[in-house]
Amino acid sequence: MSNIVVVFDFDKTIIDIDSDNWVVDELGATELFNQLLPTMPWNSVMDKMMNELHLQGKTIEDLEQVLNRVPIHPRIVPAIKAAHALGCDLRVVSDANTFYIETVLRHLGVRECFSEINTNPGFVDDEGKLRILPYHDFNKATHGCTLCPPNMCKGKVIERIQSTFATEDKKKIIYLGDGAGDFCPSLKLVDGDFMMPRKDFPVWELICNNRNLVKAEIHEWTDGEDLEQVLLGLIASIISAEDTKNSVENSSQLFDCKFRTIALEAFPKPLYVPH
Ligand SMILES: [Mg+2]
Ligand SMILES: [Zn+2]
Repeated sequence: MSNIVVVFDFDKTIIDIDSDNWVVDELGATELFNQLLPTMPWNSVMDKMMNELHLQGKTIEDLEQVLNRVPIHPRIVPAIKAAHALGCDLRVVSDANTFYIETVLRHLGVRECFSEINTNPGFVDDEGKLRILPYHDFNKATHGCTLCPPNMCKGKVIERIQSTFATEDKKKIIYLGDGAGDFCPSLKLVDGDFMMPRKDFPVWELICNNRNLVKAEIHEWTDGEDLEQVLLGLIASIISAEDTKNSVENSSQLFDCKFRTIALEAFPKPLYVPH
């Protein structure tokens, strides 16, 4: 296990579109969706839309079929699998819902790569209808962040993840996202972390305009192929820096021991290759 925690946004990061829009459009309910949107928070509109679609006779299987056709760049799944194979702890932080995300990740065969999915609860009720609830129940209490929508502050999720790190772990977070909702969590990242905003998308613009507020190192990406290269490049460089540091620490321990000369002689000699 490496000390790297990779946090993925879902919509327009793992998948190439917005899952709510995709479902609504594919099930032919765009017009109603657009009518409802100005009247209540997005998350509440989605719960209402699921009720409407259920009344129209759309089933959970219809929904699953639509989700299984979701557009995704062909390099995303290999990137996820490679990051997982390199020992990274992968997590999702998304304003979609558990039902969509679980369905899509299972269909792609990468659900087991993720240790955690932080998102709005989505579940099938007794009538066979999908219910979508807010991550933070804003009817009970506000989450208090003015940057984020009432149902979810992704920054709070990052703070919760950070609170589980022991100081000696020296964990590094790599955060990937595209939307305005990914700006708040990028402000929670600390020196030594990495922020990967999708170029020309809202979070990228927000970061460009508030460059001094972000402490993490910033590495932009454009599409799935670029995401794979940038992400795996960062992981490789973090791991090799950790390895170098560990071997330096080990060698300084050797200097302290009484077999100092023996230990020093045991080090492999650098190999010189003539030009
Ligand atoms: Mg997104
Ligand atoms: Zn927030």
